[in-house]
Amino acid sequence: MRLLIFGPQGAGKGTQGRRVAEEFGLDAIATGDMFRWAISEKTDVGIKAKEFVDEGKLVPDDVTLAVVSERLEAKNFDDFLLDGFPRNISQADSLDKVLAEHSAEIEAVLALEVPEEVSLQRIVGRRVCSNCGRNYHEDAPPEEDWTCDRCGGQVERRADDAPENVKKRLRLYHDQTEPLKSHYQGVLHMIDGMGSPDEVFSRIVDSLR
Ligand code: ADP
Ligand code: ZN
Repeated sequence: MRLLIFGPQGAGKGTQGRRVAEEFGLDAIATGDMFRWAISEKTDVGIKAKEFVDEGKLVPDDVTLAVVSERLEAKNFDDFLLDGFPRNISQADSLDKVLAEHSAEIEAVLALEVPEEVSLQRIVGRRVCSNCGRNYHEDAPPEEDWTCDRCGGQVERRADDAPENVKKRLRLYHDQTEPLKSHYQGVLHMIDGMGSPDEVFSRIVDSLR
């Protein structure tokens, strides 16, 4: 299965993406997580991506495409869920091209929808495990003193979650990412992102079955 998930910041795409990938046995390819990891490890990609990620800007397409292509190739262009890529029409065109070369195409696109006030409120309180990427919220912290329940990593606010950056990323989303809905019209599943993570997850599963 070849899936893609997108939605505004705070719509829950990281959380849902991981769960959907687990449910259907897919490799979750999350470009944001990959860049954060590369930055913390100071790899070549990390060094190139850092200034863009820190400022809430898009990492240049050539860097992004290279990291995604490598992961797709490792999976033989199947059994993946892309989260955070493509983020604009040019990335979508490149993805179509790469997949077409392997006679593959995206089968379903999950578009998570939440009102802007909700997405802002969720991100301002968001905390993320710096090791495994699991999301928390200041109102729903880990059991023990900002230590990840799953892996014991340090749970902190993402550097790019400062309010002025969040507004910039939301604007970028509306201008550049939302137009992807018409690009993927034939395979688009609109998912209401309001409610508990379990509720949203069952909506996604119902919609895919
Ligand atoms: P969010 O959806 O909350 O912005 P992500 O974790 O998906 O968070 O992305 C974090 C940052 O990583 C982005 O602001 C951007 O700098 C970079 N990034 C992620 N995916 C892409 C992409 N497809 N193209 C360019 N930059 C990206
Ligand atoms: Zn963790």
